Amino acid sequence: MSEIPYKIYLDESEMPKAWYNLRADMKNKPAPLLNPGTHQPMTAAELGGVFCDELVQQELNDTDPFIEIPQEIRNFYKMYRPSPLVRAYCLEKKLNTPAKIYYKFEGNNTSGSHKLNSAIAQAYYAKKQGLKGVTTETGAGQWGTALSMACAYFDLDCKVFMVKVSYEQKPFRREVMRTYGASVTPSPSMETEIGKKILAEHPGTTGSLGCAISEAVEVAVGSEGYRYVLGSVLNQVLLHQSVIGLESKAALDKYGVKPDMIIGCAGGGSNLGGLIAPFMGEKLRGEADYRIIAVEPASCPSFTRGKFAYDFCDTGMVCPLAKMYTLGSGFIPAPNHAGGLRYHGMSSTLSQLYHDGYMEAVSVPQTAVFEAAEQFARTEGILPAPESSHAIKVAIDEAKKCAETGEEKTILFGLTGTGYFDMVAYEKFHDGKMDDYIPTDEELAKYAATLPKM
Ligand SMILES: *Cc1c(COP(=O)(O)O)cnc(C)c1O
Repeated sequence: MSEIPYKIYLDESEMPKAWYNLRADMKNKPAPLLNPGTHQPMTAAELGGVFCDELVQQELNDTDPFIEIPQEIRNFYKMYRPSPLVRAYCLEKKLNTPAKIYYKFEGNNTSGSHKLNSAIAQAYYAKKQGLKGVTTETGAGQWGTALSMACAYFDLDCKVFMVKVSYEQKPFRREVMRTYGASVTPSPSMETEIGKKILAEHPGTTGSLGCAISEAVEVAVGSEGYRYVLGSVLNQVLLHQSVIGLESKAALDKYGVKPDMIIGCAGGGSNLGGLIAPFMGEKLRGEADYRIIAVEPASCPSFTRGKFAYDFCDTGMVCPLAKMYTLGSGFIPAPNHAGGLRYHGMSSTLSQLYHDGYMEAVSVPQTAVFEAAEQFARTEGILPAPESSHAIKVAIDEAKKCAETGEEKTILFGLTGTGYFDMVAYEKFHDGKMDDYIPTDEELAKYAATLPKM
């Protein structure tokens, strides 16, 4: 067999023509979204008030394994995909490990992350439905940036509620979004009822994702011709992100490579759900086995310390309830947490798979994550996003174990994005001003007590 190149590229003709819907192969389907008032499963009609119609169908589709990617979305994908699958030869050498490390790099577009894969799909369906625009929230700003790009492409209006602390700390992110034509409002804001309420209760708050979601939903529901779109957590987003896994698998298959373990960072679960999709499908169908590892921050440990329960997706409790691993919708990571992945919950699909024992989860402290980020930058050249660096950290740990045992494991991990807008966090790390706050059991119990009584 020919030697494996540093980068395995696919031809345009080898790009996936359909998304893979993991749920079709799950025996235990993810629990349905519930109406927060009646606690009954949300109907398509109810969801249609908030989300675009076609996306509602995708959200509720637990049966079709493949959903065709419309040609216009495939054309857009061609501008920045297929993304490279890289063999981390330099990192392997540095670690002196017999492990073979591969990473799928999704930071090769202007938004700098995998989020564009779903943003373009969501904007497409909004346009097709004849909508004027969409609203959303953004935390660190990657999703807002991706959505702004997608909306610009389809000439849709884009209103972004940006968590206030990020709005202030990341002015350049904000300007990128405005360059693509989006309007950006710091959240909580005085533009919504829920924003006013949160500001009255917590004056001076720097905001949270859960709060920005409530504001974006309120504006979407109250504005003619607008719907709300979300960049993670939902089934539809995992579906769109399956292009990551499908491309990775196609590239590895070319060289007959089968990973032993697949590692991804987990915020709301979209990149991980997408990366593992075709591999998990094989696992669910009993055709192959893989170790699958979700990596989350020790300061926001939904999988490893959360409860598997119905919870609100947002602070304002206006969104449907989702059954997921959650820390409670009021949970906000400590202010010193700089590594992203700060959402209190987790994808229902991944939560069910984790609950059923199909995957593992580990949490890592942030200084160790930045050490791994720096080591990766210095060997592989790419400046990784802090979020992605959670996966790097565990990939390096696993490769080091192989160095000790002599095992030649094949590791695949998701490198979800670049970190150019995260230099304040890197600066803190370099100046020794970063520490590892880990919430106590008492703190977590306080938020868990706010889970809705079912
Ligand atoms: C948003 C983001 C994540 C986390 O989101 P998931 O939905 O869990 O994938 C990870 N990495 C980057 C670069 C991101 O922008």
